[in-house]
Amino acid sequence: MYQHCACGQSWLPPRFECPQCLRSAWSWREASGTARLVSWVVYNVAYDEAFKNKLPYNVAIVELDEGVRLISNIVGTPDGDGLVADMRLALVLEREGDHVMARFKRAEDLEMS
Ligand SMILES: [Zn+2]
Repeated sequence: MYQHCACGQSWLPPRFECPQCLRSAWSWREASGTARLVSWVVYNVAYDEAFKNKLPYNVAIVELDEGVRLISNIVGTPDGDGLVADMRLALVLEREGDHVMARFKRAEDLEMS
């Protein structure tokens, strides 16, 4: 889900007012779950103890087909191997404790599984 304003702006993460016109005339829209990879980095050093057992891991900027960008992770390739700018991605919901995380998988991985 992402927020969409009557002025035409869409965004994530959620906020109370539209970042474009500052009105609160927004509604929730359901995303298709398909996206493209804009950019990414791979962390090989844990700058916080909480991430020490996750190394290496990637952090990516993903653009939904609806035009909304978010920061996420690409699953199945912690070291970023095989990632290419503009590649097609598909949403994967992963539970982590009490939270459901919106992560992405390479679309080609989905077709194989
Ligand atoms: Zn607006």
